[in-house]
Amino acid sequence: MPGRCVLIVLDGLGDRSYASLDHMTPLQSASTTNLDALAEMGANGLYHADRLGVALSSQDAHFALYGYDRAETLRRGILEAVGSGLEVGTNDVAVLGRLITAERDNGILRIVDRRPPADPDRISGLMSCIDRYETNGIGFRFTQINQLEGILILTGNVSPHITDTDPLCNGLPAPSVKPFSPHESDPAAQATARALTEYLIWVHRTLSEHPLNRAGTARGEMPLNAMITHLADGLRPIEPFRERWGLAALSISPKLVQWGVSRSLGMDTARVKDSRDPGKDIADRITLAVHKLPQYEFIHVHSMAPDQAAHTKNPLTKRSVIEALDAGIGRAIGPLLSNPDVLLAVTADHSTPSGGPLIHSGEPVPMVFVGQGVRRDAVRALDEIQCASGALGTVRGREFMLMVLNYLDRCKLRGIMQSPRDRDFWPGDYEPFRIED
Ligand SMILES: [Zn+2]
Repeated sequence: MPGRCVLIVLDGLGDRSYASLDHMTPLQSASTTNLDALAEMGANGLYHADRLGVALSSQDAHFALYGYDRAETLRRGILEAVGSGLEVGTNDVAVLGRLITAERDNGILRIVDRRPPADPDRISGLMSCIDRYETNGIGFRFTQINQLEGILILTGNVSPHITDTDPLCNGLPAPSVKPFSPHESDPAAQATARALTEYLIWVHRTLSEHPLNRAGTARGEMPLNAMITHLADGLRPIEPFRERWGLAALSISPKLVQWGVSRSLGMDTARVKDSRDPGKDIADRITLAVHKLPQYEFIHVHSMAPDQAAHTKNPLTKRSVIEALDAGIGRAIGPLLSNPDVLLAVTADHSTPSGGPLIHSGEPVPMVFVGQGVRRDAVRALDEIQCASGALGTVRGREFMLMVLNYLDRCKLRGIMQSPRDRDFWPGDYEPFRIED
């Protein structure tokens, strides 16, 4: 039986059907001989990291793939702060902030453009004017992480239980900041909401009058005159992946929030960069996984390319990216398939529709397991439709890691107690029985 698992996550691979693709999904329509060969060698099914119909973020879906319940996990603000190595105190709150173009409409802040074009000098010049603030004992520290995006760290007696001001869409009013249920009467949440509101008003006034914005608007450019925020959270300890599953783990990912996820779970992280060639990138990452196999029992190999292609809202772009990934997988996958110690899993974290207004959608995604002992079904193509008739059925949430333990012959017979804390893996991390000589 295999002793280690390599999980390839093609981010946002699942999709909907489009008339421009003869009513197929981009994956169905793509020519993917290598992914289809994996389907032919393995057990196929559909996967949803939560309940069918629920649209999940990458980080929530990855936490579920790694076998963590929603209540245990962290939100993106703190994950990106941790992933980017920012200094965050145990009582601090981190929230994502984005500079945008907004207008005042009868006393309401309305979003004009969430992604206005702006040159890097103007962005960094404006951000440096709003990077420090303090009110009523609550401090604010803003750090740019990517173009218009940054992380706002709140210090003092602060609470992460506050609502978002980013409506995720142009044309809508920014929501007001409020403590969210059941923390409505928590004084710290109320004070945090008041202080953030004051900071965001100050940011709007400061940026609106800034000479860089005035010069820009004189040239006909959109002003970067407001900040919107979302997904606040603070640090909380989470049970490490190794303790929960008994497997030493590595994540190979180009995505900042994934670095935060793996770091929060005590997994090692290989911080790789994306080039313009997603096929080369996935091939390089699979080759890195092959080299790292002796050190790890679980390796996550991640490509953001299908998700990013879907966000361009062009199904044909996504199809060509999938074909490039398939070619890259075909070039690199040989050493994993020929190694009897490897259980290979290929799936996605969620569906990303390459049409319509949604960021992610709630359809399940294809999943395949390949390895010694894994049942072989009659599926001959890895896509959202063919995999539905596979031997796995529909796999959900935390079941993925339980299936990995099962295929590795590491699943525990339920009820066995070898250590004070119940675990799903066998043999457990138990203390040996000692007899004095
Ligand atoms: Zn994702």
